[in-house]
Amino acid sequence: MKFIECKNLKAKPETVTSFGKLFTDYMYVREYADGAWQEGCIMPFDALELLPCASVLHYGQAVFEGLKAYRNACGEVRLFRARDNFERMQTSCARLCIPPVDTEEAYSALVKLVKLEREWIPTERGTSLYIRPFVFAADDSLGVHAAKKYKFIIILSPSGAYYSHGFAPVALKVEREYVRAGRGGTGAYKVIGNYAASIKAGEEAAALGYDQVLWLDGQSRRYVEEVGSMNIFFVLDGKVITPELNGTILPGITRDSVIKLLKSKGIPVEERRIDIKEIIDGAKSGALTEAFGSGTAAVISPVDRLGDDGRDYVIGKVGAVGKIAQMLFDELPAIQTGKIPDPFSWVNKIV
Ligand SMILES: *Cc1c(COP(=O)(O)O)cnc(C)c1O
Repeated sequence: MKFIECKNLKAKPETVTSFGKLFTDYMYVREYADGAWQEGCIMPFDALELLPCASVLHYGQAVFEGLKAYRNACGEVRLFRARDNFERMQTSCARLCIPPVDTEEAYSALVKLVKLEREWIPTERGTSLYIRPFVFAADDSLGVHAAKKYKFIIILSPSGAYYSHGFAPVALKVEREYVRAGRGGTGAYKVIGNYAASIKAGEEAAALGYDQVLWLDGQSRRYVEEVGSMNIFFVLDGKVITPELNGTILPGITRDSVIKLLKSKGIPVEERRIDIKEIIDGAKSGALTEAFGSGTAAVISPVDRLGDDGRDYVIGKVGAVGKIAQMLFDELPAIQTGKIPDPFSWVNKIV
């Protein structure tokens, strides 16, 4: 691997409170050209040179990932399920005809970069180093087809605790107008266009006082899918349920971790089709005792309110966090940061 030294190291902040605004001194860049991924390079974090005809700017042939590294007070650094993210990146690449990046090569590049930048990783509770790998088409010509040139880049962003004022529930709006994904589309992949297409619904929900939208399936507009950057779980009639991976839902690594952690505690999780009517009825009757989202950014995000068709439905008590969400929020980060044992071999201690 090549290395270009950064001559002007930035001052590291005392504490980090933002998400995705601050970046470390170095990034990793690897180019695909002449039919192969070339030798990668760790180099100073800086602007990219792109011609205005660069294909990603026109047709969005690009995918990304999101994961975290944690550092504790002793200076130990851990990655959480990083290889799973690179495996998922391969499936996203395949969907967009992007030549896949080898998982072990990507993983070892990431380990080198994170080790180099370890002093940037905050250590306070809830903080982390957010890692953003992405791949995009870099052909210098117009024309809709698979590009011949790509870039794979990893950037690192020290991030504050997601919940700065304690573990706070969010409100979701059931989205009845827009859809996020259709059968045969790209909903199950971390493809950049999915997010562009979801912004309008998010803005409209925010204007009505909701934090995010709860997407329904694109065909019957009846079955719950996910939250757009999180998967969704419900506790209905005492059972934990989550939508099954049906080809339009992003297979979240946190989702998978939640299911495995609950099962290991003897709490079964049903993965199945969930009619939004079941959920609304459950909220009305009180049979729906909890709802929470799962994703890398927040880990667990309790939901205390669902808005649908101009009405609001409270789940549990406003502002209260359910027992299962609380347990997951206590245990998953404890595994990630090495505070409690990791019986699943999810964590790689790299320093
Ligand atoms: C990234 C993402 C998730 C959560 O996945 P994790 O691997 O748990 O971070 C859920 N839904 C969508 C649409 C996503 O992009």
